Amino acid sequence: MSASHPIPRTPLMALDLALSDLMGRVTPLSGTESVALVDADRRILAEDLVSELQVPPHDNSSMDGYALRAADVTAPGVVLPVSQRIAAGHVGVALEPGTCARIFTGAPMPTGADAVVMQEDTREVGGNIHGVHVDVVPQPGQWVRRAGEDVRRGTVVLGEGTRLSAASIGLAAGIGRARLSVRVRPRVALFSTGDELVMPGEVAPSDMPPGAIYNSNRFFLRVLMQRLGCEVSDLGIVPDRREATVAALKTAADHHDLILTSGGVSVGEEDHIKPAVQQLGSLDLWQIAMKPGKPFAYGVVRRDAGAGVAAGQTCHFIGLPGNPVSSFVTFLLLVRPFLLRLQGALESGSLTLPRAYRMRADFDLPRADKRREFLRVRRNDQGGLDLFPNQSSGVLTSASWADGLVDNPAGTTIASGDLVDYIAFSDLLP
Ligand code: AMP
Ligand code: MG
Repeated sequence: MSASHPIPRTPLMALDLALSDLMGRVTPLSGTESVALVDADRRILAEDLVSELQVPPHDNSSMDGYALRAADVTAPGVVLPVSQRIAAGHVGVALEPGTCARIFTGAPMPTGADAVVMQEDTREVGGNIHGVHVDVVPQPGQWVRRAGEDVRRGTVVLGEGTRLSAASIGLAAGIGRARLSVRVRPRVALFSTGDELVMPGEVAPSDMPPGAIYNSNRFFLRVLMQRLGCEVSDLGIVPDRREATVAALKTAADHHDLILTSGGVSVGEEDHIKPAVQQLGSLDLWQIAMKPGKPFAYGVVRRDAGAGVAAGQTCHFIGLPGNPVSSFVTFLLLVRPFLLRLQGALESGSLTLPRAYRMRADFDLPRADKRREFLRVRRNDQGGLDLFPNQSSGVLTSASWADGLVDNPAGTTIASGDLVDYIAFSDLLP
């Protein structure tokens, strides 16, 4: 750089600031739809789920054994006649004092019984009397699951904004729901920029033209967005030309809530995203103080009025850096909460970074970076973290090898044995 022509440098923006700024621009999509339980995985609940019944609905046995009155067995070895047999799904009659009921797991407790003795603690009486020796002294309530101990009638079992999981879908079924009202999926148009990009499947490795590379970002971005509940329109590769970029943006804006691109957000002559988005709306190009990452663009693209589109409507635009690891990490840290917010998810951690765990670094990082760094690491069998040796933002192997990120503050070195902040991919990759 010559002293007479300094290139102006944009001051770096703190990640937390970028995150809160970005979140401030999202209004959750208002639409909802009804889906069958099996289709509700990872969707965002649009209603408070209130239980109309107790779960379990009745007191029941948690063991195969004998239901009895605890007061009838004051010492081990008492013999009680078996007056009835109650299997799951069947209802017994009131238990006569001084008798017991053969009972199975899940079967309703007969009226009068207040405890269950598991069959392992009994012996059948020989001869033709149908009875059992009870070899233990039962406590009232033992091996009994109380009505409503899981869910009480009238309680909200899952709140609006909950991201549904396998267990929560089971819980909804358990209170009798077959369908749920969920937020509409965000419609996202995805395209990759870069004349160097070719598609796997279209060009064989042996036929790669000089200078070409395969488009990796398209695939992981698409997968991540699908996991986040988005409907993705994959618009492929857009060549590095202003008109082509404008045309792609224009078509995408009308029918999508977000246009996500990778590449072309730096400020080189081959980076056409900025002028193209500005031509159709507005764009802020941020230099975020993070590594990998840094260039990140947020903007809006105007929709053409007509055909169901009101004048003045806009579509969100996010431009990610092209380097695969930068693209991957900025997606997880910035776009993920954006997309959750767009669906009205209130889950804790969705507005900021997910929770970090303090873990031991089993590596050294002797050179501190000026930016807050997200290192690709993996938990080892000794309960510490190993560092992937090559932390370059172009090395996607690091992200594939790792199971999480160390969130390392700017200007901080790490010595083996230090405690560091670890964010698990499993908390980020929904
Ligand atoms: P850019 O942000 O367009 O300057 O790209 C930065 C680097 O990332 C360049 O080395 C690109 O070749 C690479 N890159 C951009 N897009 C992709 C992509 N979709 N898949 C893999 N690498 C990419
Ligand atoms: Mg490029």
